[in-house]
Amino acid sequence: MYTGAVIYLLVMSALFGIIIGSFLNVVIYRVPAGRTVVKGHSMCMTCGHNLAAKDLIPIISWATLKGKCRYCGAPIASRYTKIESFTGVAFLISAICAYKTAAPALVIFDYPEYTFGLVYFVLYALSVAAAISAMMIYFDTGKGYPGVAVWTLVLKIPAVLLPYIFNIMGDRGGVLNALKSVGIYLLQTGCAILLIFLLFLIGKKKYGIGDLFLDISILSLPLFNLYYYFRNQWIEFMAFALCYGILRSVTKGTSKDKYSGIIAVCTLLFISLIHYIYRMLITA
Ligand SMILES: [Zn+2]
Repeated sequence: MYTGAVIYLLVMSALFGIIIGSFLNVVIYRVPAGRTVVKGHSMCMTCGHNLAAKDLIPIISWATLKGKCRYCGAPIASRYTKIESFTGVAFLISAICAYKTAAPALVIFDYPEYTFGLVYFVLYALSVAAAISAMMIYFDTGKGYPGVAVWTLVLKIPAVLLPYIFNIMGDRGGVLNALKSVGIYLLQTGCAILLIFLLFLIGKKKYGIGDLFLDISILSLPLFNLYYYFRNQWIEFMAFALCYGILRSVTKGTSKDKYSGIIAVCTLLFISLIHYIYRMLITA
């Protein structure tokens, strides 16, 4: 029906994801160092030469320079390109899960459910980006950071409020229900973190403030509620928190610990995709 709009949404999402991924490389490198992400030049890690715009085109620059610095010839780690590609794929998955309501909004402007779908998708994709930076910073440093945790919350709360803003909840709408919705979301996140804390206690592992920031960042990533915004999904959410908590408490303090953020984000994206395919099959 909206084939052109769907193709446009999928292609633009992947491209936009790659560009965001390029920015995440900066975030992942600078946040743990306590540096600002908005100012300053990117430079070669070996020779310190400031990089020009032509050196900073995601994936393409790395490929055309054959993974070497244009100025000193030192090899550039493939990880930057991997993070850009991963973010592109993550945004593409998000777009696949959201295309039914997000794509028509590109051609139909006066239908609130479609506009809602598009805005929700953008918030979802940005919270995926926040989770990716949390997972990589944890991989590098073993710590969660308050700034990333705050960002995921800032993105999730408007997402929870969106159905009320667009009045999609119909007769169940109203300020009181909207606030209740935010309350339930905060309660869910709180319960999930309490569960993880208990699992750390059982495993006799120390739960620090850095762990709290990481868990907020990962758990704030909306689960598969792109089409379930009318439900609160306690079961799915707590089941994920249980698996994630066990993984974290078992690996905490070992060398495998640093992979737990990566596994969590990949699992969430995978579940979203499977859940979407499942729903598509049962409605077909
Ligand atoms: Zn160089």
